[in-house]
Amino acid sequence: MDELAINGGKPTRDTYLSYGSQCIDDSDIEAVVKVIKGDYLTTGPTVKAFEERVASFVGAKYAVAVSNGTAALHAACYAAGIGEGDEVIVTPMTFAASSNCVLYCKGKPVFVDINPNTYNIDANKIEQKITAKTKAIIPVDFTGQAADLDKIKEIAAKYNLTVIEDAAHALGSEYKNKKIGSVSHMTTFSFHPVKPITTAEGGMVVTDDKKLYDKLSMFRTHAITRDERFLSKNEGSWYYEQIDLGYNYRITDMQCALGISQMDKIDGFLKRRRELVKIYNDNFKDLEAYITLPYEEKFSSSGWHLYIIKLKLEKLKVDRRQIFEALKAENIGVNVHYIPVYLHPYYEKLGYKKGLCIEAEKLYEKIITLPLFPKMKDKDAMDVIKAVTKVIMHYAK
Ligand SMILES: *Cc1c(COP(=O)(O)O)cnc(C)c1O
Repeated sequence: MDELAINGGKPTRDTYLSYGSQCIDDSDIEAVVKVIKGDYLTTGPTVKAFEERVASFVGAKYAVAVSNGTAALHAACYAAGIGEGDEVIVTPMTFAASSNCVLYCKGKPVFVDINPNTYNIDANKIEQKITAKTKAIIPVDFTGQAADLDKIKEIAAKYNLTVIEDAAHALGSEYKNKKIGSVSHMTTFSFHPVKPITTAEGGMVVTDDKKLYDKLSMFRTHAITRDERFLSKNEGSWYYEQIDLGYNYRITDMQCALGISQMDKIDGFLKRRRELVKIYNDNFKDLEAYITLPYEEKFSSSGWHLYIIKLKLEKLKVDRRQIFEALKAENIGVNVHYIPVYLHPYYEKLGYKKGLCIEAEKLYEKIITLPLFPKMKDKDAMDVIKAVTKVIMHYAK
């Protein structure tokens, strides 16, 4: 076997393959140019059209597009009425935004450990963390695979909680033949470049509930409204009132033009991700003594935002760090999703301690995210397989 690049050997690839990337073509560019030449750059008809497009795709009644996925989560927490001292059930195996949104509302994130197979929040462990102060649950459809949503909804109904599903990974994913976005009280999406579709920065909340929709819409624009239903008085047709503390979380019409153009292609993006996953799964079969491949729920159809392998450390001579650095030296854009949120220094300062969610902490030591995005060629996937095989076999016990 060749010497690893990390030891001075020749890397598997000459050029670096990133772990995720947008897929932009001429029709996307034309769509943006058309809008930028028009009358509305923000808060115009293209925003509305993008909202309607995503709402109808996911099967939700209402949608509110905002400046990013984090703003979507913040707006959803606000609409759910989360305030000082309220507790919200969250998962540690996620991007910090899924828990930070609770802090923005002065609430307290309560971490519930993950299921060691799916890496999603373990719905069987939620109930024991519920108190009189619990207001909401924020499950994440990790890597695009739906969380245990029926069970979560059942618990929410029993304790009168709002379910805010963080589907930043899961636009186009399905849960029991229902599109993600049609299941929970509110579902949030992100349109960051590595996510299923992109608007550069962007996010959205979808819901079937008109009351939540009104709150979300208002929160996006400083909670300033001209809507007669919410005014304390009316001094004329110019009149408006700020009725709560909102933010400027608006998204531009150019971004939404890009979003609509991306929605035209989402089925192709999802199909390509599935094809690449099949190449990985088929070719990693021989390595299963050393790595665990992603687990797939029978009832759910993942949009495959991420492809994560789990190292069987007991079968390897080195730890994750050395495998990771060796893959990087082979010019493979590896990543780690995620560091358990509460292990960050800021959360430690808030009083969260190591040992809180054992399964998430154990998983964190073993995971590596491999490149996966629609623009990848079969040859790119084969390079990843070659590099992973080379590195793993080099360090195999
Ligand atoms: C990307 C992401 C977010 C935040 O989205 P932004 O658009 O980057 O603000 C939230 N939650 C999860 C799980 C994400 O992956």
